[in-house]
Formats: sequence, C-alpha cells, structure tokens
Amino acid sequence: MKKIAVLGSTGSIGTQTLEIVREQKDIEVVAIAAGSNINMLETQMREFSPKLVCVYDEERAKELRIRTADLQVKIVSGMEGLLAVATHPDSEILVTAIVGMLGIRPTIAAIREGKKIALANKETLVTAGHLIMPMAKECGVPILPVDSEHSAIFQSLQGNEENKVSKILLTASGGPFRGKKRAELEQIQVEDALKHPNWSMGRKITIDSSTLVNKGLEVMEAKWLFGVELEQIQVVVHPQSVIHSAVEYEDGAVIAQLGTPDMRLPIQYALYYPKRLPMSGKRLDLFSLGSMTFEQPDIETFRGLKLAYDAMKQGGNVPTIYNAANEKAVALFLNKKISYLKITEIIEECMQRITYKENPSLEEILETEALVYEHIERFVCK
Ligand code: NAD
Ligand code: MG
Repeated sequence: MKKIAVLGSTGSIGTQTLEIVREQKDIEVVAIAAGSNINMLETQMREFSPKLVCVYDEERAKELRIRTADLQVKIVSGMEGLLAVATHPDSEILVTAIVGMLGIRPTIAAIREGKKIALANKETLVTAGHLIMPMAKECGVPILPVDSEHSAIFQSLQGNEENKVSKILLTASGGPFRGKKRAELEQIQVEDALKHPNWSMGRKITIDSSTLVNKGLEVMEAKWLFGVELEQIQVVVHPQSVIHSAVEYEDGAVIAQLGTPDMRLPIQYALYYPKRLPMSGKRLDLFSLGSMTFEQPDIETFRGLKLAYDAMKQGGNVPTIYNAANEKAVALFLNKKISYLKITEIIEECMQRITYKENPSLEEILETEALVYEHIERFVCK
C-alpha cells in the first residue's frame, strides 16, 4: 500500500487525487486537510478512513468533531493542524493541493520529515523555491510536479539525464480572453473570467489563467523545478491544450507530452513515478482534433506575464511580492471589490513600492507577504 496525505482534499486537485485512490485501490489516505468544507470532509472521512483530519477553521473543526464522533478520528485545525497532516508519520507522499503561500510551511515541514512531495501548489515554489529546492536535495526528497505543464516537461526529460536541454516550451491555452485587447478587458466580470476554455479548476487558478499570471507563476515554477535559466523558457500559446509542454535538446530534437486535458494523469504520474498505470477516460484522437495552432503570448495586453519575468529577473523577495499581490488582488476581484484590470495594476504597484530583500529567509518571505497585504489594504481598499 502506498500511503499519502493530501492538503486541500476538497478542492479540484484534491478530489481528483481521491478519484485516483478510488480507482487504483492500492493507496491509503492517512491524513487530509481542507479550509472549511466540512460536508465534503465528512464524506471523505467516511469513504477513505484517514487517521488525521485538519479543518483550518477551528469553529468548523468543532462542528466536524461532533458530526463524526462515531469515527474516533483526530480532527485538528489551523496552521498547527496543516503541519500535523503534512508530517503525519505514516505517510510517504504529501500532495500539496492547497492554494497560495499558505502551503510553504507545511511543504517545508514535510520535506524535513523525508516525505516525497507531489506538488500542485505552485505558489510555494514561486516564493520559496530558493529554500525548498536545496532543502529537498539535502533531504533526498523528490519534488514531483502535478501542474500539467511541469509534469509534461518532467515526462519529456525521462531517460535524458545525461543530455543538455536547450529550451523548455511551456504551453498556455491563452485563457478565455485570448485575442482581446486591453480596452476590451475593462468590463470583464467575475463570471466571465471564471469560464476557462479547456480546464475545470479552482477559482483562483481560473482567474490566474485568464490574466496569464498563472503562466507567469509557471515560468517561475519551471525555473526552480528544472534548474534552467529564465531565457531558456519560452511560453507558447496553444489554444487546444493538447501539447502539455515540451523540451528541446541540444541537437534540436523536441520531445513533448500530449494528451486530453485531464489533471488525473499528472497526479497519477506523480503518485506512481516512474511507473505508468492504466487510467480510465477519454483518449487523444488526432483525427477529430484535426489541427493544432500556436501563437506568441500578447504580453502588452496580459501584463501579468511580463511582470512575472520582471519579478524573476529582479529575484530576492520580488517573486513573493508578485505572488502575494496577486493572491490578494484576485481575492478582491472575486469578492467584486476591484475591477479586472486592477489585478495586474496592483501587482505592478506592489512590485514598485515594497522594499527589496535579497535572498529572503522563510520569515522574510512571510513578512513580505504581510507587507504586501497591508499596502493593498491601506492604499487600494481605502
Ligand atoms: P481549489 O480552490 O479547488 O481547492 C483548494 C483546496 O485548498 C480546497 O480543498 C480548500 O479547502 C483548501 N484550502 C483553502 N484554504 C485553506 C486553508 N486555509 N487551510 C487548509 N486548506 C485550505 O484549488 P485547486 O484548483 O485544486 O488548486 C490547488 C493548487 O493546485 C493551486 O496552487 C493551483 O495553482 C494548483 N494547480 C491546480 C490545477 C487544477 O487543475 N485545479 C492545475 C495545476 C495547478
Ligand atoms: Mg498548469
């Protein structure tokens, strides 16, 4: 039996992880954590019998303890609870499927305990990649990508350890507003931005995909995961989302991974790496697909991608500023407090205003996050 813990078990990646558990039948779910959805957590507890459950919100945790008193499962809460789930002594793999920088501390704690990391939570690497990658190496822990593009790159690298990569081709669907100009984005409403053309995902990443901030975060994630230079990563808009990403080698050979847009494949590959196992679902049919197209990203309209390159070039705590500003701005947009275009304006403003810190420690990363939030609350939400 493979033993896993899942942070964010009620979300898009979390529930698809549990679908794999259900299908494969040789995985034991030892611990799960979620924010507040205790209805789904209760169902998951009854189906998967984890030993430990964390509900971030203590009030909801209390309610869940009452509802599941018959199960005698330990239910914890808060950051302490997330850390306990991440480091549960029985688990071998931690699936990090929570959203945002909240994932940093549990991921670090799990690495220190020698857990393999199946990483969906890209915000963690974007902000703390310089701490996490060396730590994982030191502890002998693999970081297995769950993000579909990074899984595709990882798959395209297999068997090529000795060969030099000249370029990474990171594909992007372009999101629901591909082809639009800035003026046309002014009136975008939450409902419009939540309609992704190819993937069904959580709300925050869906908004990030529409602004191309998601692609910006993925460029940074790829740099950390694969140890390449920023200049070696090329974003290619490919609206059909069939080529999930590719690697170009020194001799010009390009190796890619293709498939239908189904996150269960990268999740399963991360859980069973290096093995491939049967999987249900639709297969790629090239005849019905007919053709594939490619475009340059429009970084003038979608400034989020350009700002990501700027943030990565500046380094230090700037990727944290970029990410934290985006997290806060997207939350404000989803709550209808700011307009759509304001998201990238806020990111840019914070990148200019918040003090630069070279090589930030974990404390300095979290401090930067707090400063960004404070800045936005003082100057944007007034
Ligand atoms: P989601 O919003 O669907 O789910 C988020 C999960 O995190 C939920 O279970 C929620 O309860 C939990 N959560 C939220 N706040 C919490 C808190 N304070 N404490 C504990 N748990 C909390 O998000 P998602 O789309 O599954 O994305 C998860 C991560 O995976 C993100 O970092 C995202 O960028 C990344 N990712 C997602 C996809 C996808 O297809 N959904 C693809 C690639 C990468
Ligand atoms: Mg992705």
